[in-house]
Amino acid sequence: MNWINNYVRPKINSLFSRREIPENLWTKCDACGTMLFHRELSDNLNVCTACGHHMGITPRDRFLTLFDGGIFTEVAVPVPVADPLGFRDQKKYPDRMKAAQKGTGEKEAMLVAEGEIGRTPVICAAQDFSFMGGSMGMYVGNAIIAAAQRAVELRRPLILFSAAGGARMQEGILSLMQMPRSTVAIQMLKEAGLPYIVVLTHPTTGGVTASYAMLGDIQIAEPNALICFAGPRVIEQTIREKLPEGFQRAEYLLEHGMLDRVTPRGKLREELVTITRMLMGLPPAVIADLPPPASFSHGPTDAAQDDTENTDPPRRNAPPDTEPPEAGAKG
Ligand SMILES: [Zn+2]
Repeated sequence: MNWINNYVRPKINSLFSRREIPENLWTKCDACGTMLFHRELSDNLNVCTACGHHMGITPRDRFLTLFDGGIFTEVAVPVPVADPLGFRDQKKYPDRMKAAQKGTGEKEAMLVAEGEIGRTPVICAAQDFSFMGGSMGMYVGNAIIAAAQRAVELRRPLILFSAAGGARMQEGILSLMQMPRSTVAIQMLKEAGLPYIVVLTHPTTGGVTASYAMLGDIQIAEPNALICFAGPRVIEQTIREKLPEGFQRAEYLLEHGMLDRVTPRGKLREELVTITRMLMGLPPAVIADLPPPASFSHGPTDAAQDDTENTDPPRRNAPPDTEPPEAGAKG
């Protein structure tokens, strides 16, 4: 129309196309609806500061906030055959894999690492619910075996953080085979006299609860985590009865003797240090002396300063449905 619209405006827009105010600075808590500033949320380990709701945390972020100084070494996991069944539903399995890899920046649904927690050498494995629902396929089986073998080799305890929707249906029977495989791997640890500690996180379901997630010497869960084989909806439909409140949640399972502890994420590190040292016959750690872990933040404003990950990981912690701060919100 005129030079202001046709020339000046595009020019100005291109000057400011690098957004001064980044998006995804706010996350809405699913439980209470509070708007949480991303930095505040990551400082609190993805636990809502208003209501204590435990949101998902990726294995990498968990390890950063768990290991001393955020330092850990990844344990190599043998990569299995891709798409052994040539499986296809609405999408081909390899396409789903690619999308998950792109979305999470990870190879597969489990990350294994070695390092020290409170100066206690351990092996940790964590399942990634954001990677195809943390589903247990051949890679996850391999990861558990690699973790157990490394633990036996170095004579260290194994700590496993579970989060899964169950077996990976795209691998059919081969995914179900991971139940006995992982069980044998855990047995290897037990025969070596090494502790195996499981931290069940929301949600841990299906074949995972029928194998390695329930074989811990100590079973810890994060608050309100759903832990079950068949979900409450399926059971309700089958038995045609209303289930009690909190059924299959961490606190309910603790009350009914399925778990040893329910521990909030903020206290988990200290507790794992205490438990592993006790089980390994090490003198108790002086908590005040412990080297602190690192923090993580995937907020756009922190990306440049974040020197712990210089590989430019995708910002998958950025909430999908962020909104601008509400009027009157502080920060
Ligand atoms: Zn909340």
